[in-house]
Amino acid sequence: NAAPLGHSVIPIVNKLQDIFAQLGSQSTIELPQVAVVGSQSSGKSSVLEALVGRDFLPRGSDICTRRPLVLQLLQIKRKPDGTEEEYGEFLHLPGKRFFDFNEIRREIQAETEREAGGNKGVSDKQIRLKIFSPNVLDITLVDLPGITKVPVGDQPSDIEARIRTMIMSYIKLPSCLILAVTPANADLANSDALQIAGNADPDGYRTIGVITKLDIMDRGTDARNFLLGKVIPLRLGYVGVVNRSQEDIVLNRSIKDALVAEEKFFRSRPVYSDLADRCGVPRLAKKLNQILVQHIKTVLPGLKSRISAALVSVAKEHASYGEITESKAYFLGKQAGQGALLLNILSKYSEAFSSMIEGK
Ligand code: GDP
Ligand code: MG
Repeated sequence: NAAPLGHSVIPIVNKLQDIFAQLGSQSTIELPQVAVVGSQSSGKSSVLEALVGRDFLPRGSDICTRRPLVLQLLQIKRKPDGTEEEYGEFLHLPGKRFFDFNEIRREIQAETEREAGGNKGVSDKQIRLKIFSPNVLDITLVDLPGITKVPVGDQPSDIEARIRTMIMSYIKLPSCLILAVTPANADLANSDALQIAGNADPDGYRTIGVITKLDIMDRGTDARNFLLGKVIPLRLGYVGVVNRSQEDIVLNRSIKDALVAEEKFFRSRPVYSDLADRCGVPRLAKKLNQILVQHIKTVLPGLKSRISAALVSVAKEHASYGEITESKAYFLGKQAGQGALLLNILSKYSEAFSSMIEGK
């Protein structure tokens, strides 16, 4: 039951990380953050969960996400006997490992209430959660409160402006990928998600459109024109998904079953049959993976030059020793040799990435 997000990227990142570790190099691949934006109940938390492949986020028809949840996925090794261990740890509860993901959800809810109260209040104070698993890649996902217009409960009168400012503080970062989530049963032209994503990323280089709730559109309508970008064009395009409904959540339906149901949904709708590459959570994961691979490809030259520079300094050091002991010479030689090997491997990787990407 591996996480769909990162499937194709994990081996590449692991390999690179291994190479760096062998050389004792500090260089690492930093992947961009992924944040979800959209109006309340558009399905943001549902999309994130489906991408991670585990149930652990509060979801529902009311306001559920009331503080930013910064979710760091961290890869750990499988246990020697081959079994896997997955657990979560909160920044506010250091050292406490949560192996039960339902308990993680309860703790998110409890911690939300501690800071934002029990009556729909919203706070910009983060909840930070790390998920350790052999099935994830090292990436940060951010679940954000949805845009609302009318204050309810303990919300201040300027709730909309506050939430917008909070969302912008995450998605304005050039290294943030934006999943702009719009439900298919609302008007795309009025999409809060696309509007705020457009402010943060006017050229659309890092915004993916996600259309949720394709299963509950008005009878006789479909999302073809949305998905084709005919309503609002988007450089990186759209993916349509079907997440679990509120009833599915109440009935405790698993993510796995939901993915099967989603696939069946698309297969049984002729209007979507020629849009297979724009439909489904696995397709969204694939798209994200391609963007991440592209990102790795762009940062590789920088890593290569950092390693070259390190090699040069080793050579200089070498030259500056007048009296060089045999063991020191051996040590420096070995370092330089490893560096050259590393450069060689990295160059090969760059080529492999290029063909991976162009092959798509
Ligand atoms: P958020 O507020 O944007 O994080 O939205 P949630 O993920 O909490 O979802 C809000 C509600 O919409 C929940 O009751 C979900 O079960 C439901 N929902 C989300 N996506 C879909 C979908 O694709 N189809 C259906 N039928 N319901 C969905
Ligand atoms: Mg939410």
